[in-house]
Amino acid sequence: MNGQAGKNKESVPTKVFLRGKVSEYSQRCIECNRCMDVCPVTKDTFSIHDLNVASQDGQSVPLKIQEFAFRCMQCGQCVPVCPKDIRRDHMVRYIKYKIRNKTPWGYKRYLLIKGPNQTGMRRIIQQLFIRSKKLTNKDLACFMETTPEKKVDVLFYPGCYIYSAKTVRQTLRLLKHVGSRYNVLGGVTACCGAPHLLQGEFDQADDCLELLYQKIKACDPRIILTACAECYEAVEQIRKMYQMDVEVLSVAQYLLRYQDKFLVKKIRGKITVHDSCRFRPQSPQGVAAHDAVSRFGELAKPPMDQPSSCCYKWNHGSDPNNALRLVNYLTAVKNHAPTLVCNCLTCFEELKKTSTDVEIIDVLQLFEEALQASETREEES
Ligand code: SF4
Ligand code: SF4
Repeated sequence: MNGQAGKNKESVPTKVFLRGKVSEYSQRCIECNRCMDVCPVTKDTFSIHDLNVASQDGQSVPLKIQEFAFRCMQCGQCVPVCPKDIRRDHMVRYIKYKIRNKTPWGYKRYLLIKGPNQTGMRRIIQQLFIRSKKLTNKDLACFMETTPEKKVDVLFYPGCYIYSAKTVRQTLRLLKHVGSRYNVLGGVTACCGAPHLLQGEFDQADDCLELLYQKIKACDPRIILTACAECYEAVEQIRKMYQMDVEVLSVAQYLLRYQDKFLVKKIRGKITVHDSCRFRPQSPQGVAAHDAVSRFGELAKPPMDQPSSCCYKWNHGSDPNNALRLVNYLTAVKNHAPTLVCNCLTCFEELKKTSTDVEIIDVLQLFEEALQASETREEES
């Protein structure tokens, strides 16, 4: 989420920040087309010049480029190939902002209940959703839509994923096992704003980020653990913007600090890691996921013949070829390993919807299984 600006005294709103960046990028671009050559989404023909023009403020966006912008899943694959250090993903994000009054239903539906300060029908739907979830997950209800105020070292921030109950329960068991004293901050009213940002709803994204900062400040943690890569980037952004003295980690990164508490080592055979667009293999979070897989199983290579291992979440179904690409990807995975481990909760939640005989699990499941194996061994001895 680099490039996002919030509303603190040292930064400008995201829309203003990106407006300036897009203008600067357009002047710097040499129109080599490398960004579009690697871009995996389906697109009709348009020139990079036309794309640059359409990105700028005050310029209209032709239909072909509108369609492309909604198909863009903000994966960032276009960024490392650019010889001029241009964030093409941010340029397309700005197009999404310009045409946000034309967003497809899939985009709108995804944001329907996310974020603070909802009004009217959206607030009613949000409240009904929260109530039903609290009723069906009574053990987690105390963490839903509340702001912790007691001060402890660790804040587990699942955000909207507090409603991924199985993963949250699993995380809490693991935190307890390693002896962590923790707070939990979760709920759609504590959304990190990434879903809004990636859709070009910049004002809402800034509001979410500001409110999240206030909530984090209230419990003053030393370490913040996030469940998904987008939440991680948002919280890391807050840390930088407000110069907070806090460490932001993925849960797997944190648990590996206590790896001696997971006595059983190899519990699995071959496993491939699904690296999130934002938790790349070389990032500390990516390295942690690969380390966890190597510790508890046998790390298998990812399929290199696939142009992308993206989960295709962030175009919200706008590209008709999403499903086919996922099937091809998972078919290729199967030639390498029977199990695919996701290091980002967004990827896990999205990929597990695909019909496949590849076993798709969250990286935390490996820790959970190691814990269960240790307990079984203790009972038997
Ligand atoms: S972010 Fe991904 S989908 Fe969007 S333009 Fe870049 S490569 Fe294409
Ligand atoms: S790779 Fe960079 S320089 Fe080349 S067309 Fe894309 S944005 Fe412009």
